[in-house]
Amino acid sequence: MPELPEVETIARGLRPLLTDRTVTSVPFIAAHLAKGNRDLAREVIGRTIRGVSRRGKLLFLEFPEQDVMAFHLRMTGRLGLMPSGLPPVSHVHLLLDLDDGTALYFQDQRKFGTCGLFTGKDLKRWPFYRNLGPEPLGVDLETFSKRIIGKKSRIKALLLDQRVIAGIGNIYADESLFRAGIHPATPGNRIAPDRLAGLLGALQSVLEEAIAAGGSSIRDYRTAAGLVGTFQNTFQVYGRRGLPCVSCGTPLQTTKVAGRTTCFCPSCQVI
Ligand SMILES: [Zn+2]
Repeated sequence: MPELPEVETIARGLRPLLTDRTVTSVPFIAAHLAKGNRDLAREVIGRTIRGVSRRGKLLFLEFPEQDVMAFHLRMTGRLGLMPSGLPPVSHVHLLLDLDDGTALYFQDQRKFGTCGLFTGKDLKRWPFYRNLGPEPLGVDLETFSKRIIGKKSRIKALLLDQRVIAGIGNIYADESLFRAGIHPATPGNRIAPDRLAGLLGALQSVLEEAIAAGGSSIRDYRTAAGLVGTFQNTFQVYGRRGLPCVSCGTPLQTTKVAGRTTCFCPSCQVI
């Protein structure tokens, strides 16, 4: 599932290609996307994209007057450009023709991805957006700590909760907890302040390294240019159950936290 580094990579790839492009037509929108977007085609045609941005795992096409088109890629969503005038290839659910002869496509094999057009006011009213926690790459230690220390939930569950901190999913939660030496089942209120500082530092370095690597391609994720990311080659715990810990050699174990498979080192990561 695309997490913060993957969505950031896609946004950075699309930004120079989409900025100042005008939508000329919407040749295709699949029924499941059209359902909640009856007027999308009518409202988006003739509008000029002013920028591409990200918040948490959401990607925005920015239009004038603070209107945005928000994409949530969920499990298998992909965005990219192709020549306009071609029929949609398999699993493409939305095509936006642009004034330079290209078309933006939204491809999504599992169909869990969503998109929607929002006015600035409506976006702020959207509960999912309104309740998003701070950005992990911009948050200061005090704000981050306040969102963790009062909570009894396990730290892995807190990191995955988009209301606590935005953009983190299974991969980057596991990798940063390993780097910080924190067991994923540790209750938030049992983590000492210096360990929380270590966790925020680990989270930020993992995310920055992953962005620099173009994200992690474990299944469907590709950059806007169709390339694979390479951060998966440096995973230290994610997907490595039974393999020796890179630090101490102990076989890595898995457990379930918040319904998600969680890989960790039973000797390096302590409660
Ligand atoms: Zn270890």
